[in-house]
Amino acid sequence: MLENEPLARHTTYRLGGPARYLVLPADPDDVAKALDLAQERGLPWLALGLGSNVLVKDAGYPGVVIRIGKGLDRFEMKGATAIVGAGLATPLLARRTAEAGFAGVERFIGIPGTVGGGVYMNAGAHGAEFAEVLTEATVMDAKGKIKQVPRKQISFKYRSSNLGAVVVLEAKLALIEEPPAKLKEMQARLFRWRKAGTPFDQPCCGSVFKNPSGTRTAGMLIDESGLKGFTIGGAQVSPLHANYIVNTGNATAADVVKAIEHVRKTVAKKTGVELELEVKVIG
Ligand SMILES: Cc1cc2nc3c(=O)[nH]c(=O)nc-3n(C[C@H](O)[C@H](O)[C@H](O)COP(=O)(O)OP(=O)(O)OC[C@H]3O[C@@H](n4cnc5c(N)ncnc54)[C@H](O)[C@@H]3O)c2cc1C
Repeated sequence: MLENEPLARHTTYRLGGPARYLVLPADPDDVAKALDLAQERGLPWLALGLGSNVLVKDAGYPGVVIRIGKGLDRFEMKGATAIVGAGLATPLLARRTAEAGFAGVERFIGIPGTVGGGVYMNAGAHGAEFAEVLTEATVMDAKGKIKQVPRKQISFKYRSSNLGAVVVLEAKLALIEEPPAKLKEMQARLFRWRKAGTPFDQPCCGSVFKNPSGTRTAGMLIDESGLKGFTIGGAQVSPLHANYIVNTGNATAADVVKAIEHVRKTVAKKTGVELELEVKVIG
């Protein structure tokens, strides 16, 4: 367990303040102990994966951050079912299942989070999302009780679930047999597309806003509003992909928050659309 650990080290934005405590559990017992600690000290708690969809405020997080990663990252194929630890990186899931000759998550190759974060957020890409393949999630509630939640009890929406105050520990995913060569060829193509169309080399959280209903994506609306390249402090609306606000090197969370507010107001004024946040603001 680390005290006052800078969360900038644990998020893809590379900014934000410290966590009062950061726990790196090796197994579910450690997760239960971290939840106990939070309860004993009357602190809030939060599960974190690879921190690729969070914006941690500059003051940090005053509670216990439970980082789900190594130790909780098993990968096993049982027939066409993948049994996957929440700490496994989603691109690894995509690669391993493709190599094993199973389709269903191959298009997640460029999602730089964990399986736990992906299930919790209903992450997805190129027309596929976790909700379509998940058959069961193993979760721990705030009291440390583990339960299996079948898919039909979980309500997923675009980039969200109703899982609530739980830590996702494991997921069962129903896949379909498909030749590995075909899947790997598709992944190479998608990877090239991402490299060309997103600011891959700059710290960010991926898409900041959810795509609104309708034909125009959040990125299109931001672009139409003339905001590509808009900069506040170290935060910049990416000139490459308008729905990405990147950290150009020395951004604070306050810079990103200000950029978000400016984008929201300008898009609402120019297009009439109220953009909703996809990134989770912490602290
Ligand atoms: C360059 C880039 C590209 C991206 N592209 C995509 C994309 O194509 N599609 C897409 O959907 N997303 C994309 N994202 C966003 C992000 O990668 C996904 O949302 C990802 O699934 C988040 O996983 P994570 O482990 O990083 O979660 P975190 O960012 O650590 O957490 C996100 C949320 O999930 C919760 N959470 C995380 N792990 C758990 C757990 N084990 N149990 C309970 N709650 C948990 C956290 O509390 C938080 O609310 C992108 C991000 C970046 C930086």
